[in-house]
Amino acid sequence: MLFYYISTFSESAVSSRFHRLTTLISLMLVFAVSGRQAVAAPRVVVSIAPLHSLVAAVMAGSSRPHLLLRGGESPHTFSLRPSDARALSGADILFWIGPPLERPLARILPNLDVSATVAMLDAPGLNVLSNRPLDAAGHEQTNGEPHTDPASIDPHIWLSPTNAAIITDAVAQALTQADPIQAGLYRSNAAQLKDRLTALDRRLAAQLADVSGSYAVFHDAYQYFERHYSLRPVAAVNTHPERSPGAAHLHELRATLATHGVRCLFSEPQFQPRLVAMLSEGRNIRHAVLDPLGSEIPPGPEAYFQMMHAIADTLEQCMQGDSAP
Ligand SMILES: [Zn+2]
Repeated sequence: MLFYYISTFSESAVSSRFHRLTTLISLMLVFAVSGRQAVAAPRVVVSIAPLHSLVAAVMAGSSRPHLLLRGGESPHTFSLRPSDARALSGADILFWIGPPLERPLARILPNLDVSATVAMLDAPGLNVLSNRPLDAAGHEQTNGEPHTDPASIDPHIWLSPTNAAIITDAVAQALTQADPIQAGLYRSNAAQLKDRLTALDRRLAAQLADVSGSYAVFHDAYQYFERHYSLRPVAAVNTHPERSPGAAHLHELRATLATHGVRCLFSEPQFQPRLVAMLSEGRNIRHAVLDPLGSEIPPGPEAYFQMMHAIADTLEQCMQGDSAP
């Protein structure tokens, strides 16, 4: 029935006019697309993968942003490759978190020829927390109130979906300023991205509602995530991301894990398994890997969502599991 309809329709005179019209429209689209590429899209560089993911989503349909830190390098201690220096020199915009996170980048930035740098820590309306000294006794010495001393800022701001939405607005605004011709594209991409972030937040809140109990992390990067979803870590192995924990600190940590009945120890891809073994030896502690940068996820617009789901899934599975490791 359908075939019959199509064949009779295509033989009619109306149809050949229709075909000519669609050909014309496709040609116009080709010209429109190539015309847009002729207007140079801004050259955008982004420091870390989760931020790169949000920027890539806002730029979808325009050009692709360049990602500086790939594959598990720590933003606290990385060194710039020559290819990154080339990408940065002459870039129109560099999006980064800011000096409290990418310290090595902060040091070399004055020597780079970048037209505009946009630090996300300066985004209006962002929820910024101070570093909490999660000490070996498991005491949290701050109450998470907003802090203005840059030295004590917790820079892992992207792990709250509310902050991710604020970052999205800041990114769209900076791109619009650099490239007003594509303002409409950036605006509609940003609106779509924020809708998806709201949906993600609802799913994660439902998933993590019943997660309770004590756990410890290797690097105190999850404060924004934990506050947002009411989770409670008792200790961080490495409170200073630029230093390795000493023997005395490790000894204290073993005691803390025992006192608090820590169920899970979360390490990160770049930390040595030897440390995990030393800490959990002889105890019924499960081990899993959290990745606050999504360093094992392919970069792009989906990476942020995959990273957040992976963190929530790992937390849920390790904390809810009742079998021994
Ligand atoms: Zn960190």
